[in-house]
Amino acid sequence: MECVFCKIISKEIPSEIVYEDENFLAFKDIQPIAPVNILIIPKKHIPAIDHIELYDKELIGGLFLAAKEIARVQNVSENGYRLIFNIGEDAGQTVDHLHLHLLGGKKLTWS
Ligand code: AMP
Ligand code: ZN
Repeated sequence: MECVFCKIISKEIPSEIVYEDENFLAFKDIQPIAPVNILIIPKKHIPAIDHIELYDKELIGGLFLAAKEIARVQNVSENGYRLIFNIGEDAGQTVDHLHLHLLGGKKLTWS
């Protein structure tokens, strides 16, 4: 199994897990760019949003519900936070396992 995030799911690679349920895992980004920088991933290996299918729609909906809950636990719901998917080369995607970045804990710029 090559995928680094699949190895995080199987605990072959350690991570700072902040949330886990049947379908999702969330852990701290190893190179944070904000005080709160969490990666939320489905346990199912999907390379990127560009690969989702109609039958994934409930899973993707659940990903956002997990993000909302994680934001609440991380205390960023009130002040606000940002959710980002990088898809492909131009967006700077470096890990080919779908992941939602949750950023918060400071005023975020847009660049
Ligand atoms: P992206 O650039 O959107 O593909 O995001 C991949 C993110 O995964 C980057 O922000 C990396 O810092 C993060 N990352 C890569 N390997 C690990 C790891 N082993 N544990 C935690 N975060 C990681
Ligand atoms: Zn994977």
